[in-house]
Amino acid sequence: MTTPARTPYSACAEEGANLDAALKELGIAAPPSTVQMTEEGGMKVARVAPPLLTPSQTARLTGVVNDGMAMAGNRCQERPVSLGEPYADLSPAPVPGCVECSALDKERHEARKRRQFATAVVASQRIRNHERGHRA
Ligand SMILES: [Zn+2]
Repeated sequence: MTTPARTPYSACAEEGANLDAALKELGIAAPPSTVQMTEEGGMKVARVAPPLLTPSQTARLTGVVNDGMAMAGNRCQERPVSLGEPYADLSPAPVPGCVECSALDKERHEARKRRQFATAVVASQRIRNHERGHRA
């Protein structure tokens, strides 16, 4: 038998190579990831050490991941992406004819386009408070 043993080190090196390839595909020129060997409780542990990204590279990667999740959400209509409790209710309808409601509705719409969900939630809360003069 000549099959080389797949060690934890080689497994991590492989994972690291996959990560590097994925970053390269995104046009992110980062140094290659490495494999770190540590000892924990008498056991040798291998870990992929991903490259340190610059802030702009991190922003780009975050954007790609967010876009990917948004696209996945659009593809699976039967299972919409949940934004979690604070962002669950983004849509009380603005009261027709109220200038402030329609301004808040526009603000909310713009905020959601910018993925600033916290801002959108505040606008929603203020729309909900139409009866109380739009105080959040
Ligand atoms: Zn109103």
